[in-house]
Amino acid sequence: MECGCYLKNLSDRVFFILLFFLLFMSSSEYTPCFYCSEYSKIAQDYPVNFATKDVDSFTPRCFLHWEYECSKCGKDIHFNGISWCPTCKKFTCLSCANEQMHQERFLTYDYYYSIPCQECGNFNPALDYAEYNGTHPYQIGDLQPDEEIVIWMPIYKNQLKSQEFPHKAWGVERILALGRRVRFTRLDALGEYSPKKTWDANAPVWEPLFRDGGDYHHKYKILPEVFRLLDIHENETILDVACGEGNVARALTKQGGQVTGIDFSKLLDFAIERENEEKLGIQYLKLNAEKLTERFAKESFDKVVCNMALMDIENYETTIEQIAHILKEDGIFVFSITHPAFAWPTCTSFRVPGDSQRNEDKLRVVVDYFDERPTLVHYWDNPGLYFPRTISSYLNELIKNNLVIMEVCEPKASEELVKKFPREAYKDDDIFPDFLIVKAMKKSKL
Ligand SMILES: [Zn+2]
Ligand SMILES: [Zn+2]
Ligand SMILES: [Zn+2]
Repeated sequence: MECGCYLKNLSDRVFFILLFFLLFMSSSEYTPCFYCSEYSKIAQDYPVNFATKDVDSFTPRCFLHWEYECSKCGKDIHFNGISWCPTCKKFTCLSCANEQMHQERFLTYDYYYSIPCQECGNFNPALDYAEYNGTHPYQIGDLQPDEEIVIWMPIYKNQLKSQEFPHKAWGVERILALGRRVRFTRLDALGEYSPKKTWDANAPVWEPLFRDGGDYHHKYKILPEVFRLLDIHENETILDVACGEGNVARALTKQGGQVTGIDFSKLLDFAIERENEEKLGIQYLKLNAEKLTERFAKESFDKVVCNMALMDIENYETTIEQIAHILKEDGIFVFSITHPAFAWPTCTSFRVPGDSQRNEDKLRVVVDYFDERPTLVHYWDNPGLYFPRTISSYLNELIKNNLVIMEVCEPKASEELVKKFPREAYKDDDIFPDFLIVKAMKKSKL
């Protein structure tokens, strides 16, 4: 018994020593420097210093990778924005001189700045490249660091691992790597993918979502504005372009309109099925939104609506041109789209950590607003196609076709909506627009 007790006490003591050690190790003093850690993945001989600066941030930094005081303006500047002149023994920062940019791959970067010395005018690289080059003032002994740090000497720099760019440690790539995200792929050409095929494949998954008027976004943010802007009067002729399973067409008919709905996908079969069940007098046609003039005469509609579809249409220029053609003079065109700047996939939103259910953990990052390549998106089992365009692309297409903008709307969640749907709206829809809705009027003679 005595022996067992002794062992138990011993294991307790070992446990407490281990616990103390772990707590000690995890204290801020032993947080590795972010820059050192990233460099060490490329240069295997790179020593990782402990961070003593910005320790509680996403980028804890060691003394070497901290800030240096510009000898001209006296400001403390990040090491990647300041150069050292070995001749004049002076620091010069980016703000105090006109830098040059050099595209060259080194460590985890693909460019560096060289900054002219404030005294002699000679160009010296910023300290990130200087360190890689072995000319950092700590490496050449011009200065002594105030804190104890291990200085890397780039003896083996020819053996560095080659890197993909953009490097995942920096910028948007780094931010995106913090969360989990739904993947998408930019396509240089459509190839095997066609909008019709992808919509046909997704129709059975899509239709049930709209049987009852759509999700939160459609019901409370998009459709109320689309209907307000359309302002339907009794017996007006309305064309619903890319009507899908017909939820907008049905609503507009109930508001008094004489509605024709066109769509090229299998979604239209669901619309026709609904019409057969409950006759509202909607005329449905299986037709591509880029071929409107094949079926409709010039100036044959009072109003045209294209709800949440233009960003899915490959040749939106053709569609807008044809809509202008079939609209009567002073006719109204209303379209809604996912927001070209703030909605996915142009702007990627994700949470950090990726499985957090709180919206304050949600970040939005604009990846590349100007990239208008077709994009394969993976919302469902089958991929979908999305055609990203800038706001100016859309608006200029209206202007080109004498469609005069009457109102632009970016729905914002009201206080009431925020209370009712906090998961969708709080710190989300109340601070970012997910959708862009435009009302335009056809004016042949301006
Ligand atoms: Zn460091
Ligand atoms: Zn300066
Ligand atoms: Zn100098």
